[in-house]
Amino acid sequence: MLKVNNYTWINWAGNYSCLAENYFEPETEEQIIDIVRFAGINKKKIRVVGSGHSFTPLALSNEILVSLKNYRNLISIGQDFITCQGGMYLHELYSIMKVNNLSFPNFGVINKQTVAGALATGTHGSGLKHKSLSAQIKKIRIIQASGDILEISKDDVLKIGNKELNLWDAASISLGTLGIVTEVTLQCEPLFYLKSEESIIGFDEYLDSMDEYAKKYEYFKAWWFPHTDKVYVFKAERIPKELYLEKDKLQNYTDEQRKRDSEIDVLTAPLFIKSNEETFLIPKINAYCLDFFFTPRIRVGTSFEILVHDETVPMVVSEYGLPILDNYHKKALKEFRDTLEHSGQKIHFPIDLRYTAAESSWLSPSYQQDTFYIGMCIREYHKKEIHPSMQLFFDVMKKYRACPNWGKLSDLSKTVLDERFPKLKDFRELRNDLDPDGTFLNDFTKDIFLP
Ligand SMILES: Cc1cc2nc3c(=O)[nH]c(=O)nc-3n(C[C@H](O)[C@H](O)[C@H](O)COP(=O)(O)OP(=O)(O)OC[C@H]3O[C@@H](n4cnc5c(N)ncnc54)[C@H](O)[C@@H]3O)c2cc1C
Repeated sequence: MLKVNNYTWINWAGNYSCLAENYFEPETEEQIIDIVRFAGINKKKIRVVGSGHSFTPLALSNEILVSLKNYRNLISIGQDFITCQGGMYLHELYSIMKVNNLSFPNFGVINKQTVAGALATGTHGSGLKHKSLSAQIKKIRIIQASGDILEISKDDVLKIGNKELNLWDAASISLGTLGIVTEVTLQCEPLFYLKSEESIIGFDEYLDSMDEYAKKYEYFKAWWFPHTDKVYVFKAERIPKELYLEKDKLQNYTDEQRKRDSEIDVLTAPLFIKSNEETFLIPKINAYCLDFFFTPRIRVGTSFEILVHDETVPMVVSEYGLPILDNYHKKALKEFRDTLEHSGQKIHFPIDLRYTAAESSWLSPSYQQDTFYIGMCIREYHKKEIHPSMQLFFDVMKKYRACPNWGKLSDLSKTVLDERFPKLKDFRELRNDLDPDGTFLNDFTKDIFLP
């Protein structure tokens, strides 16, 4: 097992880093248990790091940092499930699933995260019929602070005093605070095929039609290009395999568009870097990119081809989930547009606009409510300090009962989080019961999860 002392770790976005006293890359579950016991005996804190794609200080540790990059094998696969070790990367998982004609019903945008990391924060895609990736968990295996193994399936309960707490609802999105996830079994469905249509509409037309489209199309999401008043809309529906096999007849996705898509990051990165100094360039860059790269198109492909994308240029991202009830989502989006456009702040494309279905995971922003997510990014920005344009976003979102995506930046206090996540207190109680010494907490999670 690789062990390094005084190991410097930096997240993907480059906005957070830590110096860990001990860094481990275990290769067996026994070694993982030994690390946890070592931490317990020496009163050390542990965090596990996935591929560092969270923008928040979730994975930081000044004491023990563990990576499962050498613990990422396939364990088993069946007609409707896949079981793997926690450190497997999503792109590895997806490759195996594709070969076996399996899919998930939905995906987050990229495939560079680890399985356990993506599940820990409830990574989600878009579509009102679909929950986060965590909803696919059939079984999850966790090494607790005691070093004991805890296997959790749907409907498992834990008794604390007179209370019966649903373990799956807690463990399916747990930010790595219940222990180290060594194995997961995920529910799959047969590989399916999609036809997507991407087009440009005005911002006000989007506001008027967004909920209707979200109900009509199984997959619906949009990118607002700030300062252009234009929205790039993505709608997709399932098609039978026979149509997929004739995809050239259905598609209008030219070689030129394909080439531009493949070059977008290389061509735009220098523009983003320059525009962080000279912000007056941002509206021009957004308009140029919309016009040059985001041309209307119809595409046909497998679920993976249509819904999963390659990595993008480095950036920091914030995302909040808003209740659809009482039109909070539309009010928040409109106020953000109006405030931004009158503020003098300039923001890179895209403002990511997505829907997800209500789910039962306690720490999900979509806990028991259909949710509309608004995400914003600042590209090529690597500082810990919150950028003023992101602060503006936070300030508007706060007014509309917004719940943060745990992997992305936000600024809600513990009191507000307690209001937004009705099951946060139960999670705290259960977490404290499983890990009374706070072995799996760092400064960031301690503030949220210590009673
Ligand atoms: C370019 C980009 C695109 C993204 N797209 C989306 C998106 O479409 N939808 C969305 O919701 N999010 C998205 N995210 C956010 C991302 O999916 C989450 O932050 C995810 O948690 C990152 O996974 P990771 O493997 O990098 O984990 P890390 O960021 O390294 O860790 C995340 C959490 O998981 C815990 N963890 C990791 N491994 C284990 C383990 N084995 N046991 C216990 N805990 C563990 C860590 O301690 C930490 O708390 C995106 C991020 C980026 C950078």
